[in-house]
Amino acid sequence: MIDFRQHVGDADHRTRSGLNLSTSRSSRSILNPLSDQGSGYVSAMSDPVRTDRVLQNGPANPLTTPVQYVPGVGPQRALLLGNLEIRTALDLLFHVPNSINDFTDVRPVPKLQADLEQSVHGRIVDRDSRSLSNGRSLVGILLNCNGHFVRGLWFNQPWMLKKYRDNDHLVFSGKPARKAGRWEFNNPQVHVLADDDDIENAAGVLPRYALTDGIKMDQMRRMTRAAVEQFADLVPDPLPEAYREQHRLPHLKTALRWMHTPTTTEQFSQGRNRVLLDDLLEFQLGMALRRRVWNHTLRAPAIDVSAKVDARIRRLFEFRLTGGQDTAVQEIVADLKRSQPMHRLLQADVGAGKTAVAVYAMLAAVASGFQTVLMAPTEVLATQHWETFDELLAESRVKRGFLIGGLPAAQKRELLEGIATGATQLIIGTQAVIQDAVKFKNLALAVIDEQHRFGVRQRAGFADGETSPHVLVMTATPIPRSLCLTRFGDLDVSQIRELPPGRQKVVTARVLGAVEQVKAWDFIRQQVGKGRQAYVVCPRIEGQSEDDEAAVETVYRQLCQGELSGLKVELLHGRMDREQRHGVMDRFRAQETDVLVSTTVIEVGVNVPNATIMVIQQAERFGLAQLHQLRGRICRGSYQGYCFLFSSAEVPDAAERLLAMERSSDGFELAEKDAELRGPGDVLGVRQSGALPLRVANPVRDIQLLTIARRMALNLVDNGEFDQPEFRALKAIVLERFAHVLDLPQTG
Ligand code: ADP
Ligand code: MG
Repeated sequence: MIDFRQHVGDADHRTRSGLNLSTSRSSRSILNPLSDQGSGYVSAMSDPVRTDRVLQNGPANPLTTPVQYVPGVGPQRALLLGNLEIRTALDLLFHVPNSINDFTDVRPVPKLQADLEQSVHGRIVDRDSRSLSNGRSLVGILLNCNGHFVRGLWFNQPWMLKKYRDNDHLVFSGKPARKAGRWEFNNPQVHVLADDDDIENAAGVLPRYALTDGIKMDQMRRMTRAAVEQFADLVPDPLPEAYREQHRLPHLKTALRWMHTPTTTEQFSQGRNRVLLDDLLEFQLGMALRRRVWNHTLRAPAIDVSAKVDARIRRLFEFRLTGGQDTAVQEIVADLKRSQPMHRLLQADVGAGKTAVAVYAMLAAVASGFQTVLMAPTEVLATQHWETFDELLAESRVKRGFLIGGLPAAQKRELLEGIATGATQLIIGTQAVIQDAVKFKNLALAVIDEQHRFGVRQRAGFADGETSPHVLVMTATPIPRSLCLTRFGDLDVSQIRELPPGRQKVVTARVLGAVEQVKAWDFIRQQVGKGRQAYVVCPRIEGQSEDDEAAVETVYRQLCQGELSGLKVELLHGRMDREQRHGVMDRFRAQETDVLVSTTVIEVGVNVPNATIMVIQQAERFGLAQLHQLRGRICRGSYQGYCFLFSSAEVPDAAERLLAMERSSDGFELAEKDAELRGPGDVLGVRQSGALPLRVANPVRDIQLLTIARRMALNLVDNGEFDQPEFRALKAIVLERFAHVLDLPQTG
């Protein structure tokens, strides 16, 4: 689910800009961004005084009427609606239903037909729940419908058992199937009929809303209906009429009416889709504008890679690039040739060899006489990259610098000087490389590893006035397509889908009980006996009690005394100081340690090929992407890897996650599953940071609309249509919503 809280106060901006900005003089520069006088636009948007003046001068806007004055709401309910961030009439109009109940076809049981959308109603006579062998649960509710029995079934929704009481009068809606002489509804929509409700009252197509305590579904319906009757006609449509016609979109006010008071399911979807599409379109337009800024206002050094340079770089690797790596390299080489900055995302599964691609690009820049920098999210990773380059470039004269926080002053000064004079050609480091004190002489390429941890701001951090280096962003884990388009919609994407040859698939097993745990530890001791190493990963640093499994320190102590006694075991977590951490990692890498008991600090990018075993404690607490990322630590060498998912507690969706891990090793596939299970905000870890600032749409659920919105946005911006006067209102909305969130670079 999208977090609606992000949209506080946004909804009335929509109208304000829609109604007022287009007639206001002071808004002209806002409305013409990136035109000839384009330099004014970002500053105009970030100037609150100007925006306020525009707003104050406008006439009172009936759509911002406090919601309590909508007929049927009143002060009490207005308070409750506040929990849903509904404060004005407009907010209520844009409270998008999640689905509908289709009660248009209520039938007596003997008239039911298989696989058609229909409803039946009756009283609950039995409820039961069981566990299935695959770890899923099944709840059944039996209705007596005028002497005929009909069962509703819900998979993996154990709470359904307690949601209703015996003798409740329910309507089931859905497509029934006939099983063993009885009608069943799989996962039907449920509507509770009050005692004085008769089914005629409930008939029709009824939207279903997110609710809050104290407000019932039918009350919400009455309120949105009232809002539609009184206010919908006042809602301006930011899309020009001709454009709407071309794309067969209803007017926004019609869409709102259809969405809240539909007469058919088609009408409902059309209305709702229009509202969701606006949200996605506005966002994609923001993305498209940012893309245009990069392409049109920024210049990068053009780099030509000669055949000789190409051969020289490839000779450095002790392996041949895989097909996927090769394609990525070619795409990058083509980008580097142009004087518009590359802005490319390299997506690859863990261990697919992104580093080699980065090395290629960086050395190409150096060969053309430019500087290049690689920024890693942690010191551990930066160090690892540094060592990789050290090894590869042992025979070369490329001058390299390693820049992290907390260097001794003299060393730092020397390093910064080398960077400023251009003597240092290749720089590797942490975020320290984008601090103000770092002045590059002629930076041509910046590589950002593991983008998940970096914001747009850091990406822009390398730009300097009108020049920007080419930027290559590498992600830690594959991102589902829907989210990629949302989060990174302004980037070109290269994908590596295959792993280097000879990699073994990691054997993954859930370890659910004490007996199995004993077996797993035995197995691990055997493997260590053969010279392999193991990671034990725990979710938290300190436990509340001595036997809290989550506490990495406790686990460490217990394992040393028990299951792993006699082995060389070390502890690693983020609260240890840097020296200590590096010491631990160094000893593990040098195979002086057998087992590393650790928090997730080892998650990203760590590369120890001899470590082939991973135990994940309380695996149910981790998300799929994280589990996959962790498992990626042990498919680095040519030995068979083993991943044990220890789990005992019941957590929603955990069984499905762990099962998915057992079955699939394809990061792209797991990423899709993850997004489906958890929702987009959590997957990207951007709920708070506002990087996914959608109001009502959900990119995963609405992927089809998202694709359409993206195509529409790119067309509008690329063919200049978006700069025409009839799009002023829409452009104003886009900029109000996204100019600061997208952090469009200052161009003047
Ligand atoms: P990631 O994409 O997760 O960052 P790395 O770049 O760390 O992966 O590469 C993982 C391992 O695979 C490294 O040990 C690297 O040397 C090796 N590797 C990369 N490309 C190839 C290749 N084409 N053939 C064989 N091994 C490769
Ligand atoms: Mg890597």
